[in-house]
Amino acid sequence: MKKIIIIILLLLILSGGLLAWKYFYHKHKVIVIGLDGATWKFLNPLMKEHKLPNFEKIMKNAAYGELKTTKPTKSAVLWTSIATGKKMEKHGIVDWTYVSEDAKAKIQRVQLITGKHRTAATIWEILGKKNYTVGVVNWWVTYPATPVNGFLISDRLRTAIIKPSIANEKNLVYPPELINELKPYLLKPANTIPIMMKYGFETYSQEKVEQFFSPSKFFRNMFSQIHLYVGHDQMTANWSLHMLRKKQPDFFGVVMRITDVYAHLGWKFIDKQYLEDTVPQIKLDSIRSKDEAVRHKAFKLIHELDQKYAEVMLPAYKFADDFLGEVMSIADKNTTIIIISDHGFMWHGGGYDHNPMIGHSYPDEPPRGIIIMYGKDVIPGKIENANIYNITPTILYAFNEPLARDMDGKAIKEAFSDPIFQKRGDKRIASYGVGPVSSKAVPTDAAEKEMMEDLKSLGYVQ
Ligand SMILES: [Zn+2]
Repeated sequence: MKKIIIIILLLLILSGGLLAWKYFYHKHKVIVIGLDGATWKFLNPLMKEHKLPNFEKIMKNAAYGELKTTKPTKSAVLWTSIATGKKMEKHGIVDWTYVSEDAKAKIQRVQLITGKHRTAATIWEILGKKNYTVGVVNWWVTYPATPVNGFLISDRLRTAIIKPSIANEKNLVYPPELINELKPYLLKPANTIPIMMKYGFETYSQEKVEQFFSPSKFFRNMFSQIHLYVGHDQMTANWSLHMLRKKQPDFFGVVMRITDVYAHLGWKFIDKQYLEDTVPQIKLDSIRSKDEAVRHKAFKLIHELDQKYAEVMLPAYKFADDFLGEVMSIADKNTTIIIISDHGFMWHGGGYDHNPMIGHSYPDEPPRGIIIMYGKDVIPGKIENANIYNITPTILYAFNEPLARDMDGKAIKEAFSDPIFQKRGDKRIASYGVGPVSSKAVPTDAAEKEMMEDLKSLGYVQ
């Protein structure tokens, strides 16, 4: 009898241990914070001056490096590569727009590309099918919001800042009833002014337009929209924090844009006299000069200009820093936080941009983004040779799920410290299949119209 009791007790302890072990390892979570266009060129000088306390804190224990990217540096294309681990030829999102055809009416129309054109599964679709809970906010090309094992707030809901009735349109969020929880966070353009002031964003006024932008209609338009972009990100932040506070899903991913948008304008905010003195010496002919002294001086000046640029970018990076702080305070302790950007910014001979222009770019490679990984399972140190295709494989690796052979990247294993992580082999399956492909054009609606205007004002869509 005694023996039986001991055996039963042993079995109970063993199964309890197994359950606890399983629970512990299943509890591992991942949060991806996407900061469109974020670059070390601006982050480093700002951290050095202690202006980004949360980045500074995270960097003390982070694995970090540059994230190589690819042409075309179009965010719709790149964020889909990040979410699928695949090149654009495989995932099908090759541009911002496509030409829809109505054969009956013989009409061709330029429309915004949608998630229906994607031909590869995303990380949240892959994980959801494996019963992990997922949450996605404002990721590029996630409209229409297709069913996921959790929630998805598409990148079109933000357009409701201009027209609140947009929030009543279909397919903006999943599950549809979630919209009722999100509506209280909708902002109006006027609500953005205190946020602009809090962070010190340059605000639109006729005087400032004269000061910074008078000859350029394009930049004038973009400047006049800045408060809307700030509003978009504030709503994205509030939606994200609301959802994370309720219950943190196993995987959570969000994309913010102000670090990109504000960088498109930033060089206009740099001291004019300084630019007039500097720019002639850093034009392409100086950068490519055969005279080493000229070349050397040009690079030194570009480096100096990067530092000046960082100063004017502070509002956008401070905004991101505050969001990071909030996420860190909410996240479960078993979370790996991955901060990434799809590309950086660089001087290209006439201003700052992320799109290398033919004959006007130096170097020819598009400017690299950033990667920062942080969490109790991450080894602090430098990450070398990471690229945008590595993110989805790395997340799969973090969840101990197999990679797929049709992905173009590999897991950044060296960033993980846990011996169990390191022992994980190269488990691979053939493919996780395709996304929700459909040749059916999605009808145009008010959200698409607003989004089209938004992208036009950035010069992304002609
Ligand atoms: Zn981008």
